Amino acid sequence: MSSVFLKEYAVLVIGAGHAGCEAALASARMGVPTLLMTQNLDTIGQMSCNPSIGGLGKGQLVMEIDAMGGEMARNTDRTGLQFRLLNTGKGSAVWSPRAQCDKKLYQLTMKWVVEDTQYLDLVQDEAKEILVNNGRIYAILTKRGITYRAKKFILTTGTFLNGMTHYGLSAFPAGRAGCQSSTFSNALADIGFKLDRYKTGTPMRINSRSIDFSHLDEQPGDIEPTCFSYRSMFNVKHQKKDHERTDRLFFDENGWSKYPQSTSFQQLPCWLTWTNDNTHEVIRGNLDKSPLYSGKIKSIGPRYCPSIEDKVVKFPDKHKHQVFLEPEGYMTKEYYVNGLFTSLPEDVQYKIVKTIPGLENSEIVRPGYAVEYDLCQPTQLMHTLQTKMHDNLYFAGQINGTTGYEEAAGQGFVAGVNAALSYLEREPFILGRDEAYLGVLIDDLVTKGTDEPYRMFTSRAEYRIHLRWNSTDIRLLPYGHRFGLIPDNIFKLFEAYRDCIASERVPDGDIGPWSRGKIEQSIEINTKYKGYINRETRDIERMRKAEHVKIPSDFKYPSVPGLLTESRQKLEKVRPVTLGQAKRIPGVTPTDVQILWVFIEKSRMSRN
Ligand code: FAD
Repeated sequence: MSSVFLKEYAVLVIGAGHAGCEAALASARMGVPTLLMTQNLDTIGQMSCNPSIGGLGKGQLVMEIDAMGGEMARNTDRTGLQFRLLNTGKGSAVWSPRAQCDKKLYQLTMKWVVEDTQYLDLVQDEAKEILVNNGRIYAILTKRGITYRAKKFILTTGTFLNGMTHYGLSAFPAGRAGCQSSTFSNALADIGFKLDRYKTGTPMRINSRSIDFSHLDEQPGDIEPTCFSYRSMFNVKHQKKDHERTDRLFFDENGWSKYPQSTSFQQLPCWLTWTNDNTHEVIRGNLDKSPLYSGKIKSIGPRYCPSIEDKVVKFPDKHKHQVFLEPEGYMTKEYYVNGLFTSLPEDVQYKIVKTIPGLENSEIVRPGYAVEYDLCQPTQLMHTLQTKMHDNLYFAGQINGTTGYEEAAGQGFVAGVNAALSYLEREPFILGRDEAYLGVLIDDLVTKGTDEPYRMFTSRAEYRIHLRWNSTDIRLLPYGHRFGLIPDNIFKLFEAYRDCIASERVPDGDIGPWSRGKIEQSIEINTKYKGYINRETRDIERMRKAEHVKIPSDFKYPSVPGLLTESRQKLEKVRPVTLGQAKRIPGVTPTDVQILWVFIEKSRMSRN
């Protein structure tokens, strides 16, 4: 194909889902000329599944991205239609925010933010080929035959790589319902990347006109909703049930101001109903039409997000499963049927919903389906999310074997910052496991790889008290400031706030976006968990010693006497950068890490 060259960028981000938007925004906000290319501008920041952000482990991720200057938290605060703080039955250190967003508003608002960002250009096109010269990637050739040159490339192509959707036993190519799939993974295979294939699924959407809500349990939002961003505030005006209206306020250089597009909002409820023995009978009677159970889909899906077919087969003694009905927006009647993930044929989906109280007459406007897609095993990446094979190529999001908007956004942020830092010839950015859930996520990915779609759980972190939600800004905001993503005026206020927290002093008034009440609450939480925090701090210090011991990139593992063969093989395959990373490779024993440590120290001393 003849090609046209248009313009050269410092950073080219491919895909404008959750990873792509954060990557492009971070890079451009660091002053680096960036292009965000995506197949369809109308799907920027689209939530493929449930329009919900946050939840246990995930809520913390969103707050971490926010503390460093990312966008997901603020976009959620701008467009949420219901907010709940989860886990409040447990200690305050493990609470986590969750929001149900207006799907379209989220998308449009993210598009507006991206369009409004200096140094960031947008283009609707599809990346098709990777152009390499002398072993170095220098450009992307698009479907329309345009060549885009750049210094750094970030791939955030989500579920679109050779995406195949399944509705019962029919299957056709798509990245998700209504969106074209992309063959770009063939270009990745051509330059040597190892691909795998996973699947995920989504439930049907129902027109609320056809739901009988009188039979359902109402699940309202919190009367005092919790924001995700430290720079947002909700001002609840009337606290009478069903009548509270909440102003959305956002902190900028002029102080607090109302968000212009939706100054005031009323939360919408979700609704709860249950499956029953009749539902399960319909499902059991139709398993031969399921692409999962007929063997049509062979790839692996997320274990913690099972289809209703899976739940019925794997838990035969359970007589009911929860089904949450969640509104998709203020200007739509579509409800997301959370709990009924399915890829059974449409007629069977109708039979299923008709057995469920409240849904007897429901009209399915979009059927549930499954999608299979290609991904690249993340062991092919470094902690910066730069690929080991090409130092100017980065991957972020679902392409790395993760699932979830929050996981994608976090990786996008890290890849965007690192691509920009590398372009600016500055030190790379690597988060530790003791600093952020995002550090845990990336370390797990690049060290262990994935054998199923990876999602964040608090249980994946060793230092959960340290990573508590109320310390996110204290832990991470200085990074954002260092990258130029947090303005100096905010950082000055932050320093005053940090002093108050450190000295356990409640100020007389608010300190910028940190309200007096929030500071008081943080001090209270820190005091309550002091014993645990101190114990974890000692553990972290001990582990840090080993964590940061560097392993030379050309290290010869066979020269280390006493290493188990299995450990040696795994170490040679992953080639960890530090002892900390070596320690977390499955199959590498603590004794072998100890042997390695002694050997590295001895070699270092003999060289000096
Ligand atoms: P995506 O959001 O998928 O965005 C990828 C972007 O890249 C798109 O804009 C696409 O147009 C663009 N693109 C792709 N190829 C090219 C190319 N060659 N050139 C230019 N642009 C390109 N997550 C959960 O946590 N829970 C769930 O229950 C869940 N269910 C899901 C159900 C379905 C049916 C689907 C499709 C996804 C589901 N997910 C779920 C996953 C969630 O949608 C993803 O984790 C998240 O969207 C990943 O973000 P991303 O930025 O990596 O990719």
